[in-house]
Amino acid sequence: MTRSLLDVRSIARVYDMHHGMFAKAAGVRAVDDVSLLLERGDTLGIVGESGSGKSTTGRVVLGLEPPSAGEVLFDGRPMPRHGSPEWRKARMRMQMIYQDPFGALDRRMPVAAQVREPLDIHAIGTPADRDARVGELLQAVGLSASVTKRFPHELSGGQRQRVVLARALITRPDLLVCDEPVSALDVSIQAQVVNLLSDLQADLGIAMVFISHDLRVVRQVSRRIAVMYLGRIVEEGDADDLFVRPEHPYTRALVSAAPMPGRRMADRDMLQGEPPNPAHRPSGCSFHPRCPVALARCRTEMPALADLGGNRLVACHLATGANSIDVASPSGSAAARTMEGAAR
Ligand code: SF4
Repeated sequence: MTRSLLDVRSIARVYDMHHGMFAKAAGVRAVDDVSLLLERGDTLGIVGESGSGKSTTGRVVLGLEPPSAGEVLFDGRPMPRHGSPEWRKARMRMQMIYQDPFGALDRRMPVAAQVREPLDIHAIGTPADRDARVGELLQAVGLSASVTKRFPHELSGGQRQRVVLARALITRPDLLVCDEPVSALDVSIQAQVVNLLSDLQADLGIAMVFISHDLRVVRQVSRRIAVMYLGRIVEEGDADDLFVRPEHPYTRALVSAAPMPGRRMADRDMLQGEPPNPAHRPSGCSFHPRCPVALARCRTEMPALADLGGNRLVACHLATGANSIDVASPSGSAAARTMEGAAR
């Protein structure tokens, strides 16, 4: 049996929170019982609102934070301890793209030196090889040779994110974790960077975890999507199928809120209310205070993530497959309209 590149097994990440100077610390679960599989060259999107645990999941996957429970296997081996020589070696094969390219770059270093730095640190290739590789990468991300001597503040936001991408790719990684890589960019630049990421991922055969609050962008670059709510995966499935036939009421709401060509703002049904504070997680299904079709049972019983067949996993008491949830309630009917619209 071939081993997956990334095998995330039931991880949790718990932070101690103090509510008052003398109060006992309470454990807040930012990530709870999350399992994911990613094969070589495959793409997985993780989507959810702010506070859903998607970025924390990305950091645990890369070994930047230890899991409080569960484990992460990279290429069949447990992720080494953060900062250890083994971890540094593994990290060369796993790179991260952050939301803020300016923050990710050294403001005092010119572009070529920044892109080449990982090769210098790990003494990979001769100086001439390194320079040649920098030239190749800058060209691959669509930057001209004229930027090599420039500093980050002399570049546009889109150019900076291209430099970050070139730097991430220079060690020929097997895995890219992109955490909201376009949300700090102008809308006009976002599509260019998403297309570039998608093309490079396909050309170079790199596996990618793409984290975003924007389901539309995630769909564009992912073969499979995991939807997170309050630290847990509530739905997972093949990207196009999940977008056209969302099962979980939360996924339906995200699809409904996503802008689509031809759909007016007034026709979009925005999710009501804010996600609850993870320190005060609702009982039963965490989504029940915002769910338009919640039952009495939902307040007391947490639904398990169940395999509905057709590569779909859903955590909802009402989901049995094939858009099984009756959304005939006044607020639910909006979700039904959305799915019809998405399928057109
Ligand atoms: Fe809504 Fe209940 Fe399903 Fe949770 S389990 S999403 S509250 S119907």
